[in-house]
Amino acid sequence: MNVKESKYDVIIMGAGIAGLICGAFLAKNGKKVLILEQHHIPGGYCTSFKRKGFIFDAAVHHIGGCGKWGIVGRCLSELDINIRFLRLDPMDSIHFPTFSLDVPAELDDYVQLLTQQFASENKTIPVFFKEFVGLYRSTVSTGKSKLLSKYQDLTYKEMLDMYFTDERLKMVLSAQWGYIGSPPHEASAIGMCQMLVNYLKDGAYYPVGSTQNFTDRIAQKFIDYGGQIMLSSTIKKISTKNTFAKGVITDKGEEFFADNFVSNIDPLQLFFTLIDNQEIEESYLHKIRKMKGSGSFFLLYLGLDSRIDLKGLKRGFYHTSRDMSFADNGWFYISVPTHADASLSPDNKQIITVVVSIKERFDEIEDWNIFKEKKKQYTIRYLETFLPNIQNHIDVMEMGTPRTLERYTLNSKGAAYGWAVTVDQTWSNRLRHTTPFRNLFLAGHWTNPGPGICAVVSSGWRVASMILNN
Ligand SMILES: Cc1cc2nc3c(=O)[nH]c(=O)nc-3n(C[C@H](O)[C@H](O)[C@H](O)COP(=O)(O)OP(=O)(O)OC[C@H]3O[C@@H](n4cnc5c(N)ncnc54)[C@H](O)[C@@H]3O)c2cc1C
Repeated sequence: MNVKESKYDVIIMGAGIAGLICGAFLAKNGKKVLILEQHHIPGGYCTSFKRKGFIFDAAVHHIGGCGKWGIVGRCLSELDINIRFLRLDPMDSIHFPTFSLDVPAELDDYVQLLTQQFASENKTIPVFFKEFVGLYRSTVSTGKSKLLSKYQDLTYKEMLDMYFTDERLKMVLSAQWGYIGSPPHEASAIGMCQMLVNYLKDGAYYPVGSTQNFTDRIAQKFIDYGGQIMLSSTIKKISTKNTFAKGVITDKGEEFFADNFVSNIDPLQLFFTLIDNQEIEESYLHKIRKMKGSGSFFLLYLGLDSRIDLKGLKRGFYHTSRDMSFADNGWFYISVPTHADASLSPDNKQIITVVVSIKERFDEIEDWNIFKEKKKQYTIRYLETFLPNIQNHIDVMEMGTPRTLERYTLNSKGAAYGWAVTVDQTWSNRLRHTTPFRNLFLAGHWTNPGPGICAVVSSGWRVASMILNN
């Protein structure tokens, strides 16, 4: 798109889902908004790519809260965006070396299933879920809450230990920790609650046509409301004066000015590369320097022929750990998106994508090609335990590493979820939307409420409201 103006009401840095939602609300309310995005497509982690007719979702597999009363559902309705979603049922399936379980789409059914399977805890299970849902409600309502104070300093493991003794039950209730990236003994109870209740109560959904379709509909609505988006435009510098941001300069040397700015990008890049941070108080910079990014993953994308039988392969977490410590940090998240939406592949062919947890630290990986090859073999070997002949059915294979995720989104070290969702980095301990610059706001998974599409939708919406109510 040709952008003629150089002065805007609001400039948004990054067309991730938080940036796009924020932009759509601002543009709908009459603001002149420019979104600058370094990639040639919008969406950040919520993008898809095509190979030989197969459409692969790059990262996001499903989205929480897309029903009428969920956060995403309400947001899309406010913006008058129509997207067809498929509700996933079961919500998920979880596997350990010695047992497996399907997580039903309805929370009441899940509670009933757990009370049957874990009879010794059958009185406590409903009590736990009542509290858990109450805690979730406190996170989305304004005002003080006793529940938030009660759990704010607890890990999810500590919360589970308050209720249960059965280790297998605790493993089941922790099995989906990969969705926030920190194991139960590190993950914040509030962070885990935000993610889990969102999926268990408001549902997990797949946007028909791909996750890129979800993104493109939002981007199109932003444009329909009068917003402007410039793709393949990397912000290289932000000018500031007297605690105000003034303008941005792109890699092509273009300069744009605005009254307000929203950053949908990694704060490490924002505050340590793009902005001259001498105006910022050292305590703020020190806090950011000390914060820990979330982990990253290896990704395998397979386009398979139509002869392979995937009927028995369930979408969900496959853990190699045998106990609650999750000490080996080993899991595969296997998904067969063509089970939900056959239009993603040509001629009745099928897709498997696998997200693989990794122990290696980004900076310690010396040779990314060796890393990639090792992870590929490890993942295919694991898939062969279910599908012994899978190698004979592969039409297309692609891979992604933390470095790939970093390259496409500029999230440092390919951090999947912004800051790690630990007790000291969640809720009031996460970075606020406001910054030391009075007209510069943060939206997205590095700020509140946290990671995941539903959370970043909420984040973008909140920041738009802050600017509109200013
Ligand atoms: C493998 C994987 C699987 C996941 N699965 C799920 C899932 O199934 N469901 C779910 O809800 N969540 C999932 N998540 C988490 C979710 O994808 C993220 O939390 C969310 O997408 C983050 O959105 P965001 O708007 O904060 O930012 P991002 O998606 O990180 O977008 C930031 C944007 O800013 C752009 N940008 C950065 N720097 C610049 C610059 N200098 N100039 C211009 N543009 C710039 C980037 O290119 C990018 O488009 C997954 C994440 C990963 C990595």
